[in-house]
Amino acid sequence: MRYGTFVRQWNAKCTLVLKFRDQSAFSQCDVCQELKEQFQNRATPMDIRLGALRLYRQHLVSQYSDRCAFWSLRDISSETFSRTITIITDGADQAKYMVPRHPQLRTCYRASKLQRPKIKIHGCWAFGHTLQLALLEETQQSGSAMVQELLMICIEKVMAQCRSRGEVCPDTLCVIGDNTVKEL
Ligand SMILES: [Zn+2]
Repeated sequence: MRYGTFVRQWNAKCTLVLKFRDQSAFSQCDVCQELKEQFQNRATPMDIRLGALRLYRQHLVSQYSDRCAFWSLRDISSETFSRTITIITDGADQAKYMVPRHPQLRTCYRASKLQRPKIKIHGCWAFGHTLQLALLEETQQSGSAMVQELLMICIEKVMAQCRSRGEVCPDTLCVIGDNTVKEL
């Protein structure tokens, strides 16, 4: 399909139900950013640009492999007989949830100068079992101790669910820290 045809069809039929994610809603990966800058810079010698492009493609492949491993572990966790739980843990970007806030979670210039109340939101999702969301005071220390405590609460919840259903409790735990590895 030609690009022009795609754009026409997209605008005519898809835009009411499908939206492209706003690029500014998520921060860019540093590796992607640096390598893209290198290979897109016309002033950089061609061999360096090609080297950066090769590294960028390797990086994308490794990212995809990582996602594939995650998807497998997530599916295994949902299968009772696997006796495995996979928990992903992550915290929401506090800056986006300060009030008053922009409806599209952007940082407004005028509001950015104000002292705005904010809350910490941290999630632990045990696939196939439970999603635990913790709402924490702004002053709460958010280091590895906090994340481990939330993980412990999540694991206890899974164990209690298994016992109440009469199922055998999982004996293997996989924890995935999505962008919060410093907190694990
Ligand atoms: Zn990247």
